[in-house]
Amino acid sequence: MQGNIPLTGMERLAASLMETDGEAECEFTFYRDTDRKRKLRLKYRAELVLRCERCLGPLREHVEGETVLRLVDVQLETATESDDVLQAGTDGVYLKDVVEDELLLALPLIPRHAAVEQCEPEAVRWLEPDSDEGAIETQTDNPFDILKNLKH
Ligand SMILES: [Zn+2]
Repeated sequence: MQGNIPLTGMERLAASLMETDGEAECEFTFYRDTDRKRKLRLKYRAELVLRCERCLGPLREHVEGETVLRLVDVQLETATESDDVLQAGTDGVYLKDVVEDELLLALPLIPRHAAVEQCEPEAVRWLEPDSDEGAIETQTDNPFDILKNLKH
């Protein structure tokens, strides 16, 4: 079963996003494993636009992954705490929440551009240790150069 879930509907995720256009591409596989337990395998991928913590500019992040959840019918059995459990009642609302949870887990802890050069130039100018102008200035203002000239 495949489906695309719009990011706009994911309120918890949207709090971390700069843009909520786009969709999460999902693939759901329901099956029984060798223990006859019902499982759901979820594969997902999405292009997210996060906010870079260094320059506060948009940061495009591709996330994708795969997870397996055990399906539990709450009326028939209780889950052990160690299980990753999805309470059955597998309608679209539940699946949206599952995908949202996975995307939240896949988000980087501190989102930021891989290199300073990729950041918004205006926002990170103060971060650069030496600008070209500064380098020229220290060269011409070097007092020892003047002393050297006087000696000759
Ligand atoms: Zn940045």
